[in-house]
Amino acid sequence: MDRVIIVGGGLAGVRVAEALRARGHEGALTLVGAEPHRPYDRPPLSKAVLMGRTDDTTVDADWSGLRCELLLGHRATGLRLEDERGGAVETTAGELPFDGLVIATGASPIRLPGDGPQDVLRTIDDARALRDGFREGARVTLVGAGWIGAEVATAAARAGCAVTVVEAADTPLEGAVGPEIGACTAPWYGEAGVELRCGVRVAAVESGGLALAGGEWIDADEVVVGVGVRPEVGWLAGSGLDLDDGVVVDASLRTSRPEIVAVGDCAAWWSARYGRRLRVEHWDTALNAPEVAAAALLGEESTYDPVPYFWSEQFGRMVQYAGHHQDAERLVMRGDPGKAGWAACWLSGTRLEAIVTVNRPRDLVQARRIMTAGTAVDPDAVADPEVPIRNAVRT
Ligand SMILES: Cc1cc2nc3c(=O)[nH]c(=O)nc-3n(C[C@H](O)[C@H](O)[C@H](O)COP(=O)(O)OP(=O)(O)OC[C@H]3O[C@@H](n4cnc5c(N)ncnc54)[C@H](O)[C@@H]3O)c2cc1C
Repeated sequence: MDRVIIVGGGLAGVRVAEALRARGHEGALTLVGAEPHRPYDRPPLSKAVLMGRTDDTTVDADWSGLRCELLLGHRATGLRLEDERGGAVETTAGELPFDGLVIATGASPIRLPGDGPQDVLRTIDDARALRDGFREGARVTLVGAGWIGAEVATAAARAGCAVTVVEAADTPLEGAVGPEIGACTAPWYGEAGVELRCGVRVAAVESGGLALAGGEWIDADEVVVGVGVRPEVGWLAGSGLDLDDGVVVDASLRTSRPEIVAVGDCAAWWSARYGRRLRVEHWDTALNAPEVAAAALLGEESTYDPVPYFWSEQFGRMVQYAGHHQDAERLVMRGDPGKAGWAACWLSGTRLEAIVTVNRPRDLVQARRIMTAGTAVDPDAVADPEVPIRNAVRT
């Protein structure tokens, strides 16, 4: 390939650049990124950056060694494909012809109706601005008790703000881990001095606060909205590429055009493991899928089909999740959710489908290995927190 363009300057973008060079791509390489910053890690934004422990999360990359041209602060606005192969990316820096294209444009936060100021947390600039607004006594209202909402609430409470979290579902994290496990995390809010209000819908964000669907009003100095993200694929509309909740790609992360791959938060890939398309907004995917995307672009055979993994640090706890529980037959608790450390496993028969752990990293590591291998487990042993999960494997 003579000229590869990477669109998107997040973790997935930089990792693809590295993987392409490591696999012997000698042609030109250009990365176009809408943000003015070099690629950086996002997970610390809602943790160490908000807490003031660090201000810089730039990914360590040898840009000159990579021979990768960086067009930062420039945005792709459209894609024009030639009939057979290749085409051009339309950008704010002009048209960039390519014979290989990597789509790594991530996802963008969903905003709520209303013309009052609402903050979101996606970029390092968002994180710095939020941190500056978290002053002792400030009334901070968060909309959404998902992963990001819980982490932002943790930081705001630590900064001495008066924090209220408003959630439309009946429990926190309901969309991510279901109502039973979500309910186990609800007491954490009160313990941290955060008011949690579930089953409450927001009508609009207005100047000075939130208008709720029932007519009630909540005063707020800062409104932070964490109600999820959408894949950032608007610039691909009309290009001919298949878009369906992200860029549709196969098990090798190729689009319908072999010279175009998509990776990271914006890619919906085919998982043979789960027999469905997955789009996973997790750091682990942005870190590891680029190897496969680069291989696919260079015409090598490789597939991406991991057990998805995610972690979150909230209210002084390390919460980790691996697997995919949506089709599981039952949920088995592993320990007492009232205690400092516990876990829960989703099972179908003797198959371990997913696990969530709270302060039990070993359980996570062992369960992830079992799920990757697809080994059968003894459900009674899984339910016993005294038995290491690896010993629950049926021989
Ligand atoms: C605050 C926060 C905390 C998180 N915490 C965790 C965590 O604890 N654990 C975990 O597993 N995951 C976490 N995540 C998720 C994880 O960070 C993402 O899955 C990961 O960043 C995805 O990387 P990406 O490169 O695919 O996309 P992104 O990081 O979104 O990067 C995409 C880049 O492309 C740019 N772009 C978009 N459109 C265009 C365009 N048209 N032209 C040019 N550039 C464009 C964007 O500006 C962006 O810089 C967190 C995310 C956030 C925001």
